[in-house]
Amino acid sequence: MMSIQKRLGYKYVISPHLAKTDLYKISGHYEKYKDSSFSEFSTPDQDETFMLKPMNCPHHSEIYKAFPKSYKDLPYRLAENGNVSRFEPSGTLHGMTRVRCFCQDDAHIFCTTEQLGNEIGDVIALVRTVFKRLGFENYKAQVSVRDKNNLSKYIGSADDWNRAENDLIQAAQIFNLNFEVVEGEAAFYGPKIDISLTDSMNRSWQLSTIQVDYQLPERFGLEYVGPDNKKHRPVMIHRAIFGS
Ligand code: ZN
Repeated sequence: MMSIQKRLGYKYVISPHLAKTDLYKISGHYEKYKDSSFSEFSTPDQDETFMLKPMNCPHHSEIYKAFPKSYKDLPYRLAENGNVSRFEPSGTLHGMTRVRCFCQDDAHIFCTTEQLGNEIGDVIALVRTVFKRLGFENYKAQVSVRDKNNLSKYIGSADDWNRAENDLIQAAQIFNLNFEVVEGEAAFYGPKIDISLTDSMNRSWQLSTIQVDYQLPERFGLEYVGPDNKKHRPVMIHRAIFGS
């Protein structure tokens, strides 16, 4: 996997297991995960609080932000086999496939809206290559788009959303995925494709996800300088092939 991804232009990174709580407050993950994360640790002088990392995305956003970016640096692809820790209720844990600390084959792609379609296509091609090598044939995809009757709950412009939803659907068509489009299942920050595998006992397991995100680049103030010499906001794709 690492060699394939390096060939595809991903840079491998390692982010820390522990980070300041403030980082997850910026990303919004604190609000979402504060009750399902391993609780905050104070430094001996009680000056700062830290949390065990529940998600890699905030760290990758900080890596993006560490140096100024121009449109020539995009798409900027960061991959990590990152360990994340979540204190999930015991009922949601499952044998060795869902535990409290697990490794995600995670990646984040920062690109322009014009590059989004190509990047999504490349990720689907990667999923198919990996599934083929493992002999996985029985899988299907769900494209989650907005609820057309409640458009006000989504952030980002209607143009961006239309484009991202079309890019996802077109990529699913081009790669001949067995897929359905489900309205109202998109997150408030972007549409996505999830790919599930059916096992020999006819149970469905969600593996891959490709998620478009307009929110985190906004929260972290991510920018690139365009050919017009002005600052623009990139769009972010969260993607995992196996998930964990
Ligand atoms: Zn992510």
